Amino acid sequence: MTRKFTGSRLLIATHNQGKLDEMTRLLAPFGVQVIGAAEMNLAEPDETEVTFVGNARIKAHAAAKATGMPALSDDSGIEIDALDGAPGVYTADWSETPTGRDFVMAMTRTHNELEAIGAPHPRTARFCCTLVIAWPDGHDEVFPGEMSGRVTWPMRGEQGHGYDPIFIPDASDITLGEMTREQKNKISHRANAVAKFTAGCFG
Ligand code: IMP
Repeated sequence: MTRKFTGSRLLIATHNQGKLDEMTRLLAPFGVQVIGAAEMNLAEPDETEVTFVGNARIKAHAAAKATGMPALSDDSGIEIDALDGAPGVYTADWSETPTGRDFVMAMTRTHNELEAIGAPHPRTARFCCTLVIAWPDGHDEVFPGEMSGRVTWPMRGEQGHGYDPIFIPDASDITLGEMTREQKNKISHRANAVAKFTAGCFG
């Protein structure tokens, strides 16, 4: 039996503004006040696990313990079939530089690795998002979401965040970077996981 979320304020255990903006919009219909990790001055724990669910658990439990509030975390990334699922849980790591995250560099690396092995087209891929809600007593619930599609080059579009400019979802011919927020939020891996979360914990 899935534990219900009964509060009015939900802490989102992420420092990623793009994720927080999407989550805020996706949860708006449920009348819950969303609070970001930065607002609570939460530290960013090290993501030492090798799965999305493992890292999502680390973030949700650390935030719930630090604040005494139920906390929802998101661990996500892109899996590219021709790269055997890379970058996967290391999606954010591919963007790290000494001065912050550089997603143009990360997308360029993705393209270069596909070119280096002569990967055939379409270069199928999926975005994955695992949501974990953790309570201060140590209980948690897990909700995975996915969106299938393909990666393209060059980058297209100014919308969204992260790897959005190189990902074309199935049944679409534009990238996530070219979509409005409303379009992306109807089909995204995060929307898919949030729908499971709200059905399970608000139902
Ligand atoms: P993490 O979950 O903090 O480890 O980071 C997930 C990584 O995947 C980040 O680099 C994100 O930019 C990327 N990512 C996750 N969701 C999306 C998305 O909806 N669009 C583009 N990139 C995403």
